[in-house]
Amino acid sequence: MPWKALPYSERDREKKLSKKLNVDGIPTLVVLSADGKVISNDGVGDIYEQNVDAIRYWLNGGLKSDENYEWLGVSCQGCQMKPLIGERYHCSVCDNYNLCTKCQENGHEHELMIIPQKLTTIANLVWKGIKVDP
Ligand SMILES: [Zn+2]
Ligand SMILES: [Zn+2]
Repeated sequence: MPWKALPYSERDREKKLSKKLNVDGIPTLVVLSADGKVISNDGVGDIYEQNVDAIRYWLNGGLKSDENYEWLGVSCQGCQMKPLIGERYHCSVCDNYNLCTKCQENGHEHELMIIPQKLTTIANLVWKGIKVDP
């Protein structure tokens, strides 16, 4: 195996780890930082949702930074950047019209609203210890 594994004789430790990390079945992938902090206790779900981006997400300590947030499948109608990265300005009138931070500075004929980065917000709230309703 390319990663560390506990020998069968240490199954007591395995039980303790499973309890500590709330492992209740397989496959389970818990991502820890070097100092043992839980970055994600649903690594499998992260991969299903974000594919290889999950690795970047973990390397960021489980937080997506606002500046580098990638809007998968969304492009900027101004500069054609795809995927749109950073803040996303969405036209409230046009169908599927989005602009990046830079392009929205040039203005648009309709009102633009900024789309919240839900993932970041929830992660940040959890990070700060604020309770989030599902
Ligand atoms: Zn743009
Ligand atoms: Zn518009």
